[in-house]
Amino acid sequence: MIHLGLIGYPLGHSLSPKVHTAALKACGLDGDYSLFPIPPDNKQALEELLERVRSGTIQGLNVTIPHKQNVIEFIDELTPTAKLIGAVNTIYLKDERLIGDNTDASGFLRDLKNAFDFSNLSFQPSVLILGAGGSARAVVYALLHDGWKVTISARRIEQATKLANSFPDYPGSIIHSSNLPTFNFHSFQLIVNTTPIGMSPNINESPLPENLSLPSNVFIYDLVYNPRETKLVKDVKQNGNQAATGLGMLIEQAALAFELWTGKQPTREILWKAVDH
Ligand code: NAP
Repeated sequence: MIHLGLIGYPLGHSLSPKVHTAALKACGLDGDYSLFPIPPDNKQALEELLERVRSGTIQGLNVTIPHKQNVIEFIDELTPTAKLIGAVNTIYLKDERLIGDNTDASGFLRDLKNAFDFSNLSFQPSVLILGAGGSARAVVYALLHDGWKVTISARRIEQATKLANSFPDYPGSIIHSSNLPTFNFHSFQLIVNTTPIGMSPNINESPLPENLSLPSNVFIYDLVYNPRETKLVKDVKQNGNQAATGLGMLIEQAALAFELWTGKQPTREILWKAVDH
């Protein structure tokens, strides 16, 4: 029997149990996926839960807001990706050591490439990232690693600067700015929203102004997946742009974590079916 679960707070609306329960079933494994809501300041509960992974009673944990950085002090070893991103979303035991990994970056990149055909892009394409919080770290890392020139726009310039400065291995590939209206949108091939703007219940909000003149060949990826089609995605589709919301990223990062825990690869169709209705 495999025991898996998710640490975070609050966890009421998480789709992860649906995805992982479907994955267990699809791979013929006997197991469960539990929610472990741990309030932000309860370090003791966090440590005790991680001890259950160390002792083998839990085989794998996902980590979400607000604990992606809080768990690091209880982990024995971070994978290079988790270290560079500075956040952990997947925990498991390997050779008696607690490993902290991060599948958000590869999950994002996989879904981005499933969603759009980038085969005609220039040598170093340009992306505009909206927001500079937790998920932006994984997205910026993924895109820099994939060869993109990254511009970060955030309402607090110091947050964008801090994020940009945490990737010193990519000099000249990362720019930060807070002045969205002054951008020349013709210079971007992709825009990624990593802010929660447009997320339910604020479904009539968008991180981009409605009257923006956006070239129709810019791809738009919105990490928000609730609602299934955000206002941003609806608006830009009306303008002729190709756009996607982040449900596929959620599925890909979950599937990658599941593979780390079990060695099995669930088919994506079954995972989509579990959440997409
Ligand atoms: P976060 O760490 O709180 O960061 C949010 C960022 O958005 C911060 O830079 C924040 O700026 C900015 N922001 C928030 N409200 C804003 C507003 N009204 N105007 C301008 N900027 C604003 O959150 P996160 O973990 O990155 O998550 C962001 C969104 O991505 C959430 O909707 C989450 O559900 C989604 N997400 C999806 C996936 C997926 O698998 N598809 C994965 C992770 C996250 P301040 O710091 O100034 O507030």
